[in-house]
Amino acid sequence: MDDLIKRAAEDLALANNVVALTGAGISVESGIPPFRGKGGIWEKFDPMEFAHIDAFMKDPAKVWNVLIKEMKDIVDTAKPNDGHLGLAKLEELGILKTVITQNVDGLHQDAGNTDVIEFHGNFAWQKCMTCDKRMETINVSMSQIPPRCECGGILRPECIFFGEMIPPNHLLRSRQVASQCDIMLVVGTSAIVQPASFMPVISKQSGAKVIEINPEKTPLTGNISDYLIMGKAGPVMKQIIEELEPLL
Ligand code: NAD
Ligand code: ZN
Repeated sequence: MDDLIKRAAEDLALANNVVALTGAGISVESGIPPFRGKGGIWEKFDPMEFAHIDAFMKDPAKVWNVLIKEMKDIVDTAKPNDGHLGLAKLEELGILKTVITQNVDGLHQDAGNTDVIEFHGNFAWQKCMTCDKRMETINVSMSQIPPRCECGGILRPECIFFGEMIPPNHLLRSRQVASQCDIMLVVGTSAIVQPASFMPVISKQSGAKVIEINPEKTPLTGNISDYLIMGKAGPVMKQIIEELEPLL
């Protein structure tokens, strides 16, 4: 693994347009469980019963009481870890340009990345379904379920539910940056959820290197990605930055 970390540092030192694609895995070390797999949220909840837009529209209180409340408790207090901070450092060094994320926790922005394309929106904000007024999730009181705006409208998170569309402009921009980068860094995503998982394919087809960081193999491994650094996002990103800085 150390050899691959050195290799990644050397590759990144030569690059000047790096794009990162991140998934739930990068936030695991911040205490936010992924949806799938061991310890994942879907072991506890049926996504169709709680995370589909139809379920929310039918019974907002039920979805607020279970899924949204649980996510709010976690996201309100979560802090960026070395994985997020490493990507922010790469931006500060002028190497990384854009983060495309499937996450809704807002931790990339908290870490300092300034160009974050959020495929699935952001859970850190709520919006009134009647008047569109926005409110930070952390400031939403749970004394009334579902929480309401001062106009009486029901609040909903600014992330997308199953059954809702990824904003087309986000998709368009992602395709654009994915096709223009010289390295695509894929961190903590199982790469099975389309269309995000297609972004590394676009990069590869456009001549970029694709580097994966994940404790597990993914469908990209040995196929789309040039190499996989098999480890946790936090320690791996930290070591990459340590190896990279003397090379600049
Ligand atoms: P996923 O749950 O399908 O896969 C998570 C991946 O992270 C796996 O490949 C796993 O091996 C890897 N992983 C686990 N621990 C890791 C670590 N410490 N470092 C690096 N990688 C690690 O996640 P997904 O592919 O992102 O898709 C699930 C969907 O769930 C996303 O679309 C996202 O919107 C949503 N989601 C978001 C959050 C969040 O905002 N933090 C949390 C859960 C789910
Ligand atoms: Zn309102």
